[in-house]
Amino acid sequence: MDKITSSPELTNRRLDVQEGSHLWRPYCQMATAAPAWIVASADGNYLILEDGRRLLDGISSWWTACHGHRHPHIIASMKAQLDVLPHVMLGGLSHKPAMRLAERLADLLPGDLDYIFFVDSGSVAVEVAMKMAVQYWMNRGQSGRNRFVSFANSYHGDTSGAMSVCDPDDSMHSHFKGFLLEQFPLAIPAAEDEFKAFSDFLDEHRDNLAGVIIEPLIQAACGLRFHSSEQLNRIATIVREKDLLLICDEIATGFGRTGRMFAVEWADVVPDIMCIGKGLSGGVISLAAAVASQRVFDAFWSTSLEAALMHGPTYMGNPLACAAANASLDLFEREPYSERVAMLESIAKERLLPLGKLTHVEDVRILGGFAAVQMQQNLDKERWMQFFVERGCWLRPTRDVFYLAPPFTTSSTEMNTLCDAITAAVAAF
Ligand SMILES: *Cc1c(COP(=O)(O)O)cnc(C)c1O
Repeated sequence: MDKITSSPELTNRRLDVQEGSHLWRPYCQMATAAPAWIVASADGNYLILEDGRRLLDGISSWWTACHGHRHPHIIASMKAQLDVLPHVMLGGLSHKPAMRLAERLADLLPGDLDYIFFVDSGSVAVEVAMKMAVQYWMNRGQSGRNRFVSFANSYHGDTSGAMSVCDPDDSMHSHFKGFLLEQFPLAIPAAEDEFKAFSDFLDEHRDNLAGVIIEPLIQAACGLRFHSSEQLNRIATIVREKDLLLICDEIATGFGRTGRMFAVEWADVVPDIMCIGKGLSGGVISLAAAVASQRVFDAFWSTSLEAALMHGPTYMGNPLACAAANASLDLFEREPYSERVAMLESIAKERLLPLGKLTHVEDVRILGGFAAVQMQQNLDKERWMQFFVERGCWLRPTRDVFYLAPPFTTSSTEMNTLCDAITAAVAAF
């Protein structure tokens, strides 16, 4: 027995005792984590546990299930696709669900964000976006430009390129020093002198920079930190002035979550590259994309294979996932999602903003279908998940915030139930 497994009380506690002990779960210390709640099925806005308890999913299963779980239109489209073509490789072949989805996304996305590179997860979309940006400069004969400016409190995924542009503390940069690429994490500029410093910084490092990556308006996973559309607009303007590429990671904010289809629309910003994921498939299956503007796509347009984007995840553009996403876009076209998000937002404002007056509450922030109550210290996730489950809700705090990101199909009564749960948590804090 080697050192690592030499703690018998820990090993015996979990392994082989409990069903599911071979399943390595995310973001938890397997030796000490409480057992997970086992979900047997999902129905609309509810998760149904094995023991029959129904939990109102207040976070849309990591912000994916925008139309609620198992929406009949999405499921029917996937079943039809399953019967004819569940999967085919995209190398040398193509298929209608991916072609149609790319065309619809190009229509839906702002400006000239017209070229859709499908991948299987958000983190990979970020990797591809970074690779596109670096190769954009290589293809134009400027090969030293391979670093990125990123921002404190950002989250862009868990693969190594994506981790390198995450918040340095949250992604444990110091822990992984030597493994991660060194980037330039800055604070998001707010005051006049900070914009000036940001601009000077880009000038100073321009020869090494490929671009700037940001989660527009809401930095979601690292505690739902907000910045204004004016800040985003000024950042975009400065990045454009310096002729750098702007990557907007809309994986959390895209598909209606902020009340507009994409958060950049609030700031009138069209990035050079956009990452989308999460809500893209309507919350049923993994699908994401890196989307290039005309300018970026053009830099790859050549008679030489060397100038091509040499990337291709095995399951990219999976037909089942594309069928789900096409069905999800049908629902966005036919259902009043922005009115629904506005209704959820106004309930959250009425119910949660007053909590900001309490002494142990740091701040309350609400935009569209995201509502965050920030406490004055980090929250013990396990304790609070348990607390919310006892109240019939599925909520999982992040860092120092209790937050809601419910499906857009959540009713006003259900939204009030979620707000009751947050209010009770703040009172019990
Ligand atoms: C979730 C998320 C990612 C990573 O997506 P995965 O599908 O989990 O790899 C990247 N960026 C943002 C902004 C996210 O919220």
